[in-house]
Amino acid sequence: MLRFTTTDQAYPPTRAAEQRRLDFKEISAPFIPSEAEIQASRCSQCGVPFCQIHCPLSNNIPDWLKLAAENRLQEAYEISSATNSFPEICGRICPQDKLCEGNCVIEKGFGSVTIGAVEKFVTENAFENGWVKPIRVTRESGQSVGIIGAGPAGLAAADMLRRQGHAVTVYDRYDRVGGLMIYGIPNFKLDKKIVQRREKLLREGGIAFVLNTDIGNNATLADLRARHDALLIATGVYKARALGIEGDTLSHVYPAMDYLTASNRKGLGDSVPTFDSGALNAAHKKVVVIGGGDTAMDCVRTAIRQGASAVTCLYRRDRANMPGSAREVANAESEGVQFEWLAAPQRFLGSTKIEAVEVTRMRLTAADETGRQRIEPTGETHTIEADMVIQALGFDAEDLPTLWHEPALALSPNGTLAIDNHFMTAMPGVYAAGDIVRGASLVVWAIRDGRDAAAAIHRQLLRNKTSEHAHVA
Ligand code: FAD
Ligand code: SF4
Ligand code: SF4
Repeated sequence: MLRFTTTDQAYPPTRAAEQRRLDFKEISAPFIPSEAEIQASRCSQCGVPFCQIHCPLSNNIPDWLKLAAENRLQEAYEISSATNSFPEICGRICPQDKLCEGNCVIEKGFGSVTIGAVEKFVTENAFENGWVKPIRVTRESGQSVGIIGAGPAGLAAADMLRRQGHAVTVYDRYDRVGGLMIYGIPNFKLDKKIVQRREKLLREGGIAFVLNTDIGNNATLADLRARHDALLIATGVYKARALGIEGDTLSHVYPAMDYLTASNRKGLGDSVPTFDSGALNAAHKKVVVIGGGDTAMDCVRTAIRQGASAVTCLYRRDRANMPGSAREVANAESEGVQFEWLAAPQRFLGSTKIEAVEVTRMRLTAADETGRQRIEPTGETHTIEADMVIQALGFDAEDLPTLWHEPALALSPNGTLAIDNHFMTAMPGVYAAGDIVRGASLVVWAIRDGRDAAAAIHRQLLRNKTSEHAHVA
């Protein structure tokens, strides 16, 4: 280290595409220890580490890479977990090519340090050795926080607040803990057991979960405000965008989350009538997925694993402009997904059930004054046969002030919850974090927001306590 590497970049082995398209298991094996050490030692220990600057958690990457390279794995774990509540999850599903690894200075031509794979290795090794322990609170604060939403933002906040001795209760409308990490992201990217292992630790640390509880339906925000000293809203974004084109009410045209949730529930052993009836099962079907983000990639790869006879992904821009991770696109291609770039659906065709998609070929225009290329139709059209269409066009926030009859909860111009610099909404003592503030984003950003919101809540609770004492005195 401390010099330019001469060792080649290597990722842990990935299962062959022909094998992995037959099941939902994770696609890459963990590093073996000697290989992890060698790969970690490729880091040049930059004085200004661009990897760290571009990690949303500002993880101290060079330090834990150095410790991993020296086989000081417990210390490496301690440094990596100091800034990240769920490093085993980020190591698996962060789009590293756009974040830490994409900004590693040895990227160009030599291949960046395989930061995510080392982070996963360090954390899995810590679990195997019993170094990952539940939270042990030495002194209860006597104050309580309610968190609405058991996704990564809510869980990261719960983790940090419990460490400060607060009583933490997490409410969720789902029957399981994890949010999109359980019902959105498929097993082949993030095995559910990994999320459930974290849930177990959080429970052992004293965090209470109240599931099957839809706030706004089973309880009101006012109920929870009366129960807790502070509240955090971390409900994510779930309102699916739709194309709104002719034929979109035909049967077998589905929103992505319906499709992915059914598949994930099936994998978890639930009885899923919409899947068992064949409706949300892609087996033997010609499937067309519309969209170019992570959700679209998860849909096409799920359809392949369910045994679809053909899977086509339509994206209106070109490959270079795909919002999803380039790594995920490459994985999908090798598993047999056909991509049609610069292809925009024009109409869904069929009498009652979808039969085909009419597609308009697009082209990129010259860059405008902002440097951005737009798209325009070429006038050329073609049709693709389809037994099932999945729309993966992104998500918007629900209008929570209306849904929850709480007009005091102000919205930002893009419809998400508005917060101040301290994560507080327009309602005193009610905070918000994650996708419901940021809009559809990433797990790593949800963790960051959850941790920062927890720090702000803790500061406020301390202030409350101090003024209570002053009042009594
Ligand atoms: P969520 O994870 O959405 O959790 C919100 C929780 O709030 C849910 O459990 C929900 O049930 C609960 N809730 C909502 N309303 C209520 C209510 N009224 N009462 C009680 N509970 C409620 N990010 C990555 O970094 N890498 C990826 O590979 C990746 N893949 C993705 C794939 C898919 C298909 C999708 C949809 C997203 C993906 N993301 C990925 C994005 C990532 O999952 C989200 O950014 C992240 O989960 C947001 O966290 P959150 O805690 O804000 O919300
Ligand atoms: Fe990279 Fe994500 Fe880990 Fe940060 S949290 S170091 S971005 S994999
Ligand atoms: Fe190491 Fe790359 Fe980060 Fe530099 S940018 S510290 S070489 S991982």
